[in-house]
Amino acid sequence: MSARRLLLLGPPGAGKGTQAKILVDALGIPQISTGDMLRAAVAADSAVGREAKGYMDAGELVPDSVVIGVAEERLGQDDAANGFILDGFPRTAAQAEALDDLLGRIGTKLERCVALVVEEDHLVARLLKRAEIEGRSDDNEESIRTRMAEYRKKTEPLVAYYRDRGVLTEVSGLGEVDEVAGRVSDAIR
Ligand code: ADP
Repeated sequence: MSARRLLLLGPPGAGKGTQAKILVDALGIPQISTGDMLRAAVAADSAVGREAKGYMDAGELVPDSVVIGVAEERLGQDDAANGFILDGFPRTAAQAEALDDLLGRIGTKLERCVALVVEEDHLVARLLKRAEIEGRSDDNEESIRTRMAEYRKKTEPLVAYYRDRGVLTEVSGLGEVDEVAGRVSDAIR
């Protein structure tokens, strides 16, 4: 029986979104990507989108208060009641604590955090390639550098946070998509 309350952690370009989509199909639970939700908010020109856009284009983290609101609303929807794959949230200690609080209030908790490990040289190459294919406005070299720095400073400490809680598995994100998916599947079994 696989864990169903899952978090994919890892630097930009590690493959969180790709692996999350494979898990959606395998487990029938939703992917909750704050990056995708924020991009949709920007496209819709909503209040959240207007607040987030500048940070996103610069490669900086959007303020916790904004992102926590977005994630909490999504986690409260019916389809997340039996499991979810968090992708890109939490990214700071304050967000991790807010998530623990929220899950505690609804009587559940995170079952497994899979950290995708990829060296920085590979990541930058992957992101520059994605920039060519998808044309995402934050996949330029300057923003990529900022996103890496933000990751190291604010998000990487969450590896220890989840290790301390006994839910962490580190998995190499190198190799073919299917190989990585096999490792992730072992990690959540
Ligand atoms: P990547 O992992 O490649 O940086 P994402 O789609 O996860 O891509 O995130 C894109 C941008 O959205 C981030 O650089 C940041 O500005 C914003 N963002 C997404 N999730 C969060 C979060 N949990 N906290 C703060 N900012 C976020």
